[in-house]
Amino acid sequence: MNASSPQPQAEIPPQAVLTQMTFGFIVSQAISVAAKLFIADHLKDGPKTPAELARLTETDEPSLYRLLRGLASIGVFRKDGDGRFSNSVLSEFLRSDHPESIRSAAHMICDREHWNSHGNMLRSVRTGEIAFEHTFGMPVFPYFAQNPEPAALFEEAMTSFSSSIAKAVSEAFDFSRAGTIADIGGGRGLLLAAVLKTAPAAQGILFDQPQVIENSRKALQNEGAAERMETVSGDFFREIPVEADIYLMKWIIHDWNDEQSVAILKNLARSAKPGARVLLIESVVEGDDNQPSMSKLMDLNMLVMTGGKERTEKEYADLFERSGFQLITIHPTASPMQIVEAVRI
Ligand code: SAH
Repeated sequence: MNASSPQPQAEIPPQAVLTQMTFGFIVSQAISVAAKLFIADHLKDGPKTPAELARLTETDEPSLYRLLRGLASIGVFRKDGDGRFSNSVLSEFLRSDHPESIRSAAHMICDREHWNSHGNMLRSVRTGEIAFEHTFGMPVFPYFAQNPEPAALFEEAMTSFSSSIAKAVSEAFDFSRAGTIADIGGGRGLLLAAVLKTAPAAQGILFDQPQVIENSRKALQNEGAAERMETVSGDFFREIPVEADIYLMKWIIHDWNDEQSVAILKNLARSAKPGARVLLIESVVEGDDNQPSMSKLMDLNMLVMTGGKERTEKEYADLFERSGFQLITIHPTASPMQIVEAVRI
């Protein structure tokens, strides 16, 4: 065997693999703590010692060192020979100024709301109850409406997830001839702004709840898309008073059970003209049950947090059929998400 051929992998015993998986919650929490402390931002101009980082983040130096060492052991940050830490390929994406930053998503995924609800996953599995509602006494979106701080973090995190897939989505579908493109439940509008860049003649309409639309205004100005984008606020369970050629819905239908999803899509069908397209941007569950896929773990997040679910192509086709649309095709994108295209019939 020469130096360039791969080393034989030491066989990892199955119980060790399982043990490693069992400790996954520590990985999530450690990445989230690093995100909350903006460590990657502090390293953007070069390596720093644990003492410097502890001063900048107002943390306990020996404990911070242990956090960094643990993370470096899984490729998040890197320790140099002289004991200083720097960003790694992975931790670059924890920088808040990275164009595809997932810093706020990493922060949010271990916030009180997610952490405590996932701590009650067993209850959801036993009873089918939504663990979030059991934990916080109400469904997640009304909770956010009453709690602006976690709500703002959620909106930032969604925007941060969107920034990592917006380009892939805009390139996977031809938006160039659209007249009007709406994003229903479009959050702070980052995806719509990205799509509008590929459709120079199109007008955009961003639809979401009033408090979210309010928060979107500043974000949109930063994106430079505000002049081609109108905003409409409302409740998609009441009506969606938006007429467009293409309706985007990213990570909307997965939040809801089948009856709720059909109610939203029926409201959309009342505004959409025959021939209008709906593009659901979701992680579709693949047919083979043993296939690794982000959708199957995200599905558990839906079980615990919202009572929604990730669906197969057939399940999306059924929802569309019940609400006045027909599924046309599923477009792959260069991201873990797909575009489920349907037409208003
Ligand atoms: N599409 C965005 C946000 C997804 S999160 C993205 O992928 O980044 C779900 C969105 O649905 C949130 O922005 C939330 O405010 C919105 N939403 C939830 N309930 C709603 C309702 N009843 N009417 C309108 N929008 C709603």
